[in-house]
Amino acid sequence: MLTGGCLCGASRYLSPGPVLFAAICHCRDCQRASGSGGVPVMGVEKASFACSGPVRAWRSPGGSGRSAVRNFCGECGSLLFGTPESAPDLVTVYAGSLDEPARFEPSAALFVAQRPHWARLAARLAEHDGLPPDA
Ligand SMILES: [Zn+2]
Ligand SMILES: [Zn+2]
Repeated sequence: MLTGGCLCGASRYLSPGPVLFAAICHCRDCQRASGSGGVPVMGVEKASFACSGPVRAWRSPGGSGRSAVRNFCGECGSLLFGTPESAPDLVTVYAGSLDEPARFEPSAALFVAQRPHWARLAARLAEHDGLPPDA
């Protein structure tokens, strides 16, 4: 079971898994939304995902042409997870919001063409200029 929540504690979520993929996304939208060099994302099934609290959504145009939706706590503003309209069966949990962030084991870095030089991780990751070819 994966559980997580926001900084103030008002917003919580859980997923029984499994983890479908784990990657760091370095697209400019993730940088702007998070204030960091990239966002660690874990894909899980939407059907078994649940959240509670004052979760709010922000939509922006995604690379697919459909909206990317970022969900955050309406109280404290913590980014929690994404619900991309291009993949309606999927939730992308932002791994820093997990109760046990060490359970995030990234295997790939996405949109590395937009990654600032200081955001490269020491971990060995498969690097993709954009999304992986099979996405
Ligand atoms: Zn909060
Ligand atoms: Zn991104």
